[in-house]
Amino acid sequence: MASLSLQHINKTYPNGFEAVKDFNLEIEDKEFIIFVGPSGCGKSTTLRMVAGLEEITSGVLKIGDRVVNDVEPKDRDIAMVFQNYALYPHMTVYDNMAFGLKLRKVPKDQIDKMVKEAAKILDLDKLLDRKPKALSGGQRQRVAMGRAIVRDPKVFLMDEPLSNLDAKLRVQMRIEISKLHQRLGATIIYVTHDQTEAMTLGTRIVVMKDGVVQQVDTPQNLYNYPD
Ligand code: ADP
Ligand code: ADP
Repeated sequence: MASLSLQHINKTYPNGFEAVKDFNLEIEDKEFIIFVGPSGCGKSTTLRMVAGLEEITSGVLKIGDRVVNDVEPKDRDIAMVFQNYALYPHMTVYDNMAFGLKLRKVPKDQIDKMVKEAAKILDLDKLLDRKPKALSGGQRQRVAMGRAIVRDPKVFLMDEPLSNLDAKLRVQMRIEISKLHQRLGATIIYVTHDQTEAMTLGTRIVVMKDGVVQQVDTPQNLYNYPD
């Protein structure tokens, strides 16, 4: 069973602009799917439709075997990590990571366990009492990921999560994300402009242009590099 299924997905914005046209993709469990393509080709729009942040104009979106077109974002078993980390500045790292769980009325001791586990995975255990302004860019990005991980979602959506980091940190975080993917055994859709990220992280790459999928293939086949 595919983990995610996008069937004939279209998006027309209220102004009449057709941002995504007949998008079809079956994503297997634990795949790491990369969306690439020029700015404005519809990558974010597609991601936002999967997340439920943008209405699907037509087509069918399934997570597992459930049609989720009309399911609220919070009930989709999906977590999204953006390029601007959107941490709460007045809250500590711990509270930033715990916040979504608190809203869901998860019991306190369970929240504590989940936050501490995620902090360990992301090497944030010693930073739990800090506020975001006392963190480096890479640490903030890890907290943003921590907020997603504690929810233990089936699917992670990442929209250029590393684009605000400097080159060195980007390489470091790329390795972190790769490890995270293996450790969590999650399905990931990841938008990037960076060909190295696409090649090293992706199990399959979706190339988009003008709202249309041009090609779907493995990094090996797409970039034609040996082994
Ligand atoms: P990408 O992520 O590939 O850069 P987007 O999905 O953000 O592309 O945008 C796809 C196209 O849809 C762009 O031409 C963009 O200007 C347009 N677009 C995005 N949001 C809206 C909106 N709310 N109303 C009208 N057009 C939009
Ligand atoms: P959820 O995944 O349920 O949205 P979050 O912890 O991400 O859980 O967010 C909880 C609520 O807080 C949501 O209603 C969301 O819109 C809002 N929210 C998320 N990030 C911010 C932010 N940086 N500033 C203000 N509100 C936010």
